[in-house]
Amino acid sequence: MIRARGVRKSFGSAIVLDGIDLDVESGEVVSILGSSGSGKSTLIRCMNGLEKLDAGSITIDDFDVSRPKDLAEARKRSATVFQLFNLYPHMTAVQNITLAPIQVLKRSRAEAEAAARTLLDSVGLGARADAYPAQLSGGQRQRVGICRALAMNPRYLLLDEITSALDPEMTAEVLNILAQLAKNGTTMVFVTHEIEFARTISSRIVFLDKGQLVVDLPTEEFFAADGGMARPRISQFLSKMR
Ligand code: ADP
Ligand code: MG
Repeated sequence: MIRARGVRKSFGSAIVLDGIDLDVESGEVVSILGSSGSGKSTLIRCMNGLEKLDAGSITIDDFDVSRPKDLAEARKRSATVFQLFNLYPHMTAVQNITLAPIQVLKRSRAEAEAAARTLLDSVGLGARADAYPAQLSGGQRQRVGICRALAMNPRYLLLDEITSALDPEMTAEVLNILAQLAKNGTTMVFVTHEIEFARTISSRIVFLDKGQLVVDLPTEEFFAADGGMARPRISQFLSKMR
């Protein structure tokens, strides 16, 4: 499981994460919602060891991302897909996907390529396996990005607004893949503005506001609060998003 305890992070005098506690169990899909600037990306970056915590801890299957000795193990267990397509432009889809399995997992090229082509088939891109990123649409590139993460056989997939640079049609292509992964039991931490999709895919919804985790509820309960007097902040957020 992923376990965050008392996570604090500031940039200069700005407190960006203000004591976050969060558990993500195996098999769960947890969506993180919150306004722009609420700290969602920073939390994902902390989970992946890309930001140093000021206080608190994050462990992935008991490997502490703040301990240099543990970080490699933690990173083997989780893979991140970001908002911007950070594929290498001079490499084909297959080359992008096989890079880490060959270098980090020491797979043979043949084995890694076969796995990459199977993954690309599964996201409807079998015929584009040897295309370069510039020859792919945004939705296709993001699907390659998901394949690249999955090629490391991660237990946890961290997804940071992976559809926010895409038009609605491409967004649907990518969300369909995530729905498929969720159905197959992939554990996901899903930062998104796609509220209705989050509702269909998530077991829990976490809501960040100004660096604080203000709500952590089973999905049905979160949406049951919509429009209710009890949780004005959720209602306000949801009405802004829709
Ligand atoms: P979100 O993903 O919810 O939009 P972020 O985690 O990206 O929020 O950012 C939260 C706050 O932290 C914002 O005010 C942002 O400007 C600030 N921030 C994020 N990264 C940095 C950084 N590397 N240096 C300075 N400020 C940052
Ligand atoms: Mg963000």
